[in-house]
Amino acid sequence: MTENKSNGIKIKTVNLSFYYNRRQVLKEISVEFPERSISAIVGPSGQGKSTFLMIFNRLWETIPDARMEGEAFIRLKNKWVNIYDRSISLPELRRSAGMVFQTPNPLPMSIFKNISFPLKLSGETEKQSVEEKVESALKQAFLWDEVKDRLTDDARSLSGGQQQRLCIARALTLDPEILLLDEPTSFLDAKSGRIIEDLLLNLKERCTILLISHYMDQIRRIADRVMELPASDS
Ligand code: ADP
Repeated sequence: MTENKSNGIKIKTVNLSFYYNRRQVLKEISVEFPERSISAIVGPSGQGKSTFLMIFNRLWETIPDARMEGEAFIRLKNKWVNIYDRSISLPELRRSAGMVFQTPNPLPMSIFKNISFPLKLSGETEKQSVEEKVESALKQAFLWDEVKDRLTDDARSLSGGQQQRLCIARALTLDPEILLLDEPTSFLDAKSGRIIEDLLLNLKERCTILLISHYMDQIRRIADRVMELPASDS
């Protein structure tokens, strides 16, 4: 499907089912997510929430015996793109859909290099441009003021909350249109969690955010809509 009508929708699935070996975890899900909004994905543990998120950056494809049926689309540059179309470039898809995990996963290198790493991978070499983009990403992740004087420090010396904001900054360096967040505040104290909530509210001005969260108060504070993942009954 390549029709260009969006009605403000950024992401959609059509009859999406998913299996690990013969076990079905997602069953015929057809859903639409509006652009520039925060959609919370909720449901009991083991219901398939993380699996559902991985549909949108194809991260599950390396899992042996995993299989998907149905279709998933994202709207990029005003065109609907079938995420599983053979002509899709995987690096480009992952630039468009950044992901942040439950446990902060800084790379064993400096704060600066953690953020500039995706830029390097995408072929960006101009020093000034890299520095500007690193600063911009750290500012958007509400981390710049805390790290601007220690950019060469090992990223693992940051607190848990700072590390998670670093991971969000890293996901933002390539200017994604979609952010996929898998319980990003689970391991953080309440104050660090609230900082991340504030920055997500800020980011939705330009990003479409899918957020897995177990916290109803968090969902009430920041989500525009809630998708309860239906049981697959199998
Ligand atoms: P949730 O995020 O809602 O907790 P998941 O998507 O992580 O759910 O997992 C859904 C189900 O699929 C769970 O029962 C889980 O054990 C199973 N599962 C997840 N990953 C794999 C895998 N790599 N191989 C086999 N089964 C898996």
